[in-house]
Amino acid sequence: MNILILGSGGREHAFTKKLSESTKINKLFVAPGNAGTNEIATNLNLSPTNFPQVKEAVLQHNINMVVVGPEAPLVEGVHDFFLADNELKNIPVIGPKKDGALLEGSKDFSKQFMIKHNIPTAKYQSFTSATLNEGKSFLETLEPPFVLKADGLAAGKGVLILNDLEEAKSELEEMLSNQKFGAASSTVVIEEFLKGIELSVFVLTDGKNYKILPSAKDYKRIGEGDTGLNTGGMGAISPVPFATDDFLQKVEELVVKPTVNGLQKDGIDYRGFIFIGLMNDNGNPSVVEYNVRMGDPETEVVLPRIQSDLVDLFEGVANQNLHEKSYEVTPQTATTVMLVSGGYPEAYEKGKEITGFNAVEDSIVFHAGTAIKDDKVVTNGGRVMAITSFGNSIEEALEKSYKSIDKITFDKINYRKDIGFDLK
Ligand code: AMP
Repeated sequence: MNILILGSGGREHAFTKKLSESTKINKLFVAPGNAGTNEIATNLNLSPTNFPQVKEAVLQHNINMVVVGPEAPLVEGVHDFFLADNELKNIPVIGPKKDGALLEGSKDFSKQFMIKHNIPTAKYQSFTSATLNEGKSFLETLEPPFVLKADGLAAGKGVLILNDLEEAKSELEEMLSNQKFGAASSTVVIEEFLKGIELSVFVLTDGKNYKILPSAKDYKRIGEGDTGLNTGGMGAISPVPFATDDFLQKVEELVVKPTVNGLQKDGIDYRGFIFIGLMNDNGNPSVVEYNVRMGDPETEVVLPRIQSDLVDLFEGVANQNLHEKSYEVTPQTATTVMLVSGGYPEAYEKGKEITGFNAVEDSIVFHAGTAIKDDKVVTNGGRVMAITSFGNSIEEALEKSYKSIDKITFDKINYRKDIGFDLK
């Protein structure tokens, strides 16, 4: 098979590596990819949301399957585009159509879906500028902290958690009346604050059957001890020690089954990944959010733990016989630590030469924001590389990741030295 992967981050390098290990692969392409994917696949210089360009590449390279990494092409309808095109309609796309992608593309839709299908989640109400005053009154009925969420995609910045009622009211007004997050905040979800500890569970589904993939915990803040600004993710660990068998059983019964069944009941033919952000409150799961693709950097710990052939699993998704596919996961722990450009998540420089990563032996180096310039690998984004290691414990895996990181240098390199601090 020839497979095209859309995207350019560490997640996509992890997909590329896993797929490249399959005996079913003839050629692999990544669009646009990074310096790491270029080593094991062919990078194509095109934007994943430019569907006519994607079509041209698919036909030119005889692509048999497309795997979508990020959410934007899904929310914008890349899968629907394929189904509507005579030359593309028989080429499977791993990732939901627009209707399923709304689980991530609209917080209001995903909350309605959860309530309709009796999936545990925080109580909520949605408001628009026409109901701003009702929104303010609703805030008065809640206990702090107050959770305000822009309905649409807002580059991971659309959620505000505020302790002060007056501030919450004025932020609500900013979002609804002054378009704080543009059109994304023309509807705002206000919901109850959930207590507990967060983790993510990933599901691969063919629309009827599903496989529950390894759980993971990510570290979003830039600073040690989970302080400072939010980032795309500074590291991740899989499995999550507090995701006990008992807890995961509850997740399957109370969340995964009703989600997959609910999609079916609502006539949404969903083929792809579901990323379920969960709060574990004393052993009880509650859904914080759905995403319609894998997480980054969670993919960099989840995929390496899967021992089965990923192409085979994807064929199961395409042919709706996922239940017949073998699926095994190593019990070993995987950790990843993200190397970032100094200054990230605020302003940072690009184009810094990266050295030493070829000398890494005990870890897997997943490229994220990297590029090739004058035959050198240079930084090309805020998040630069994810360094993944295996171990029999979190400590052992992390020690390997940090020892490998000692070999890697680039100007103004930064990373968190305390990934997993709360789990050890
Ligand atoms: P979301 O984009 O909905 O995942 O929200 C971003 C982050 O805000 C989550 O990962 C949580 O850490 C936090 N968060 C969102 N909703 C809630 C909630 N209802 N209670 C507590 N924390 C929340």
